[in-house]
Amino acid sequence: MESLLYNHDEALELLGGLAIGINSVTPMKRRAAVSYRTQTGNGCRFVGFNAFAKAFVDRRKHQSFSMTVCEITYDDYRVKDSQGDPYLVTLQGGGSVQCNCEDYRNQVKHFGEGCCGHGYAVLIQWLGFRNLRDYQQAKRTL
Ligand SMILES: [Zn+2]
Repeated sequence: MESLLYNHDEALELLGGLAIGINSVTPMKRRAAVSYRTQTGNGCRFVGFNAFAKAFVDRRKHQSFSMTVCEITYDDYRVKDSQGDPYLVTLQGGGSVQCNCEDYRNQVKHFGEGCCGHGYAVLIQWLGFRNLRDYQQAKRTL
């Protein structure tokens, strides 16, 4: 089964032009063993946790740029994705950025917290933060 963090799409992107497909991603301590296909055969290499984590966040930030944000109240936002589907993002005390989408629910289930593309749309486009950590630090010092 694919892990939420160590998944095939992320692995393919992290390997750049090296691979044309992913055979398997096996999570290990602080890294994953990635087995991949090339034009001429197969290969395997280790990719670190930090690389996967950065790719995971970057993918969601990138998705957020095609979304539109509409403020409902000071803490509630309606965010439409590129297909026009609306999601509800709620800023909670303590700096958590909740959403009613499946991606957010999956992240909470796996990591205990999370931030989806809709959350990043509010943080980046509307509030002007670069990332979740900056937002949470600002919340603490207010
Ligand atoms: Zn969401």
